[in-house]
Amino acid sequence: MSKKPVIEITELTKVYQMGNTEVHALAGVTFDVKENEYIAIMGPSGSGKSTLMNMIGCLDTPTTGDYILNGSNVSNMDDAELAEVRNREIGFVFQTFNLLPRTSCLANAELPLIYAGMKSAERKERATEVLTKVGLGDRIDHKPNELSGGQRQRVAIARALVNNPSILLADEPTGNLDTKTGEEIMLLFEELYRQGNTIIVVTHEQEIADHARRIVRLRDGIIESDEKVERPLLADHQLA
Ligand code: ADP
Ligand code: MG
Repeated sequence: MSKKPVIEITELTKVYQMGNTEVHALAGVTFDVKENEYIAIMGPSGSGKSTLMNMIGCLDTPTTGDYILNGSNVSNMDDAELAEVRNREIGFVFQTFNLLPRTSCLANAELPLIYAGMKSAERKERATEVLTKVGLGDRIDHKPNELSGGQRQRVAIARALVNNPSILLADEPTGNLDTKTGEEIMLLFEELYRQGNTIIVVTHEQEIADHARRIVRLRDGIIESDEKVERPLLADHQLA
């Protein structure tokens, strides 16, 4: 059985107006993503990686072209519709974690569920479940500033997963971590991939991209290459 497409992007462009000049950040990008793919997006600075992530993550709409997300065309949605789709379908992980520093891990992880209108008891149960899954079951009452960088990124990953999103998007998720901690975060992504999640990671580090099963390279707003990578699933003992 072939897996269903989560993302169908056709001839996507994004033009930014800078005074009198136009910046063609995306100049016609076409690609599909199926359920449970694990993709790394690479490319030099300014090649359009973040712009593409903003489109995929429903933070912004394209200038022209189509973006079909789980069967619905989000390219022409207004901000309110886009926010609704984003909250339901997308989990974001950022280089700088973007946590609320003065509130507990639990409160950070349950934030998307507040937007979704879930009742408090249910929220706490679900947020505790995902924090446990990322290895922070004994830290739920800690505040982010009482945690290491790697632990903070785990809180952000728990928050991204709490809604059961269709896609996990991570823009340079290891950019603020040392090599060893970054590798630990990539092992967590591997585990999430094994569990069936669809993951897209933006990185400029080849070692990080090497964890993915498909590498898409951007240059000057177009896809320069798009290659599958054969890599076996890691065994349980390699993930522990
Ligand atoms: P990357 O993430 O690969 O470094 P970006 O997507 O951030 O690339 O940027 C692609 C191009 O679009 C760059 O030339 C950048 O300067 C330009 N750009 C990005 N965001 C904006 C914006 N909000 N306004 C104007 N130009 C932008
Ligand atoms: Mg960027």
